[in-house]
Amino acid sequence: MRPRASAQTLLLMFATATSLTAQSTTPTTAAQRAEERAILGEFVSINSSSNTAGVQRIGLAVARRLRAAGFAAADVQLVGPSPTLTSLVVRYRGRNAAQKPVLLMAHMDVVPALASDWSRAPFTFGEADGWYYGRGVEDNKAGLAAIVATFVRWKRAGWVPERNLIAVLTADEETDGLSIRWLLKHRPELRNAEYALNTDAGAVSLQDGKALGVSMQASEKVYADFILESRNPGGHSSVPRADNAIYELSAGLSRLGAFTFPVRMNEVSTAFFRESAGSQEPRVTALMRAVATGQLDSATVAGLAAVNAYFNSVMRTTCVATRLAGGHADNALPQKATALVNCRMLPDDPVDSVMAVLQRVVGPKVTVSRTREVVPSPASPLRADILAAMNALSKTFFNGAAVVPEMSTGATDGLFTRNAGVPTYGVAGLAAEQNEPSRAHGRDERIGVEAFHTSVAFWNQLVQRLVGPVPALP
Ligand SMILES: [Zn+2]
Repeated sequence: MRPRASAQTLLLMFATATSLTAQSTTPTTAAQRAEERAILGEFVSINSSSNTAGVQRIGLAVARRLRAAGFAAADVQLVGPSPTLTSLVVRYRGRNAAQKPVLLMAHMDVVPALASDWSRAPFTFGEADGWYYGRGVEDNKAGLAAIVATFVRWKRAGWVPERNLIAVLTADEETDGLSIRWLLKHRPELRNAEYALNTDAGAVSLQDGKALGVSMQASEKVYADFILESRNPGGHSSVPRADNAIYELSAGLSRLGAFTFPVRMNEVSTAFFRESAGSQEPRVTALMRAVATGQLDSATVAGLAAVNAYFNSVMRTTCVATRLAGGHADNALPQKATALVNCRMLPDDPVDSVMAVLQRVVGPKVTVSRTREVVPSPASPLRADILAAMNALSKTFFNGAAVVPEMSTGATDGLFTRNAGVPTYGVAGLAAEQNEPSRAHGRDERIGVEAFHTSVAFWNQLVQRLVGPVPALP
């Protein structure tokens, strides 16, 4: 999954005074550009839909390129519990092996695409009118190509980072996340990393070609499903009684619909409102600044929550009914009624306490149970070095647009790395117009040609600046 958070979160931003467009000049040579395009094109042309043999084929294609660039075979490893869950782990050896490594993350699998749904062949890389097309071109093969293109370039140029870099290219991010979990369990060096940079999250939001914000995902809400159920002995519908499974469940759901979890801010959500505030209309600016400075009275919170559903979900755990079923015959009193309630919990909200709140809200005539394992994922601390690098590169590439830390409401492999104790930052510098919906997971997926090459140049400088040494410019 690649939630293009910018589209939702920065939606209300106004274009502030900017003089450069985000796609001005990139310090990329024609040869580098051609190679980046060839790498992206090769990866897009391999159908690596999750849980198919294609995931292995793309792993082999990536490995081939890296070995050809000079990586030792031992440093390019295809590993995993089964063929369709085979990830690629690539070690780029640094000067000081005693320092903790930095992980660079992408996923190789894509959401399936039906050719009949598309206006072009989904697994044929294409270019038209300033766009690159193909399934996965945004999610996440642009990020995968950025990691591979820069590894190849650095190796060829003889760049030796100060510490080890480890590329972690997973196989089933779009489905179960089993491959990243397997890696974290079986490769302790990954758990020992200083932090991870994930190309599968973070984005640059544009309005008419001008950058409005550079989002950096530092946290993800935690996903949990609950089953709400009412049971009843039932009977003949010609003799209805006061007790009724459908009415009892609906009454509980109505109470849930009117309920809101308390607001609780964390470092990431506070920084999100602080950094977004400057480019909003004055009333929203005031509300964001108030919340960011700890003013959490009910009028302020309700005012900000009413601006936009995303702002509400940044401030609190949310739970919403998504499925409903009940009864077994048209002429029988229902013996059972069930609803599925999907919660997106703040990272430090324990699942048991959310479940206890749900039970209290729906009342004693409805039982609440959990359906699946919940993976807690603490917010990553906003490291000064990463923020400084992002801000500096925003000046270089995105006319100095604000860097906006973000807690996303979906889930990526970063959920599991954070759970394993590795702070993780979604930092893909892939720009898109904020009012143009992302086509990731959808039909005719595409990214801007310039946006792609700029994102590779951004990634190149971001990693070199953070890890060092920064090579002298030619
Ligand atoms: Zn993704």
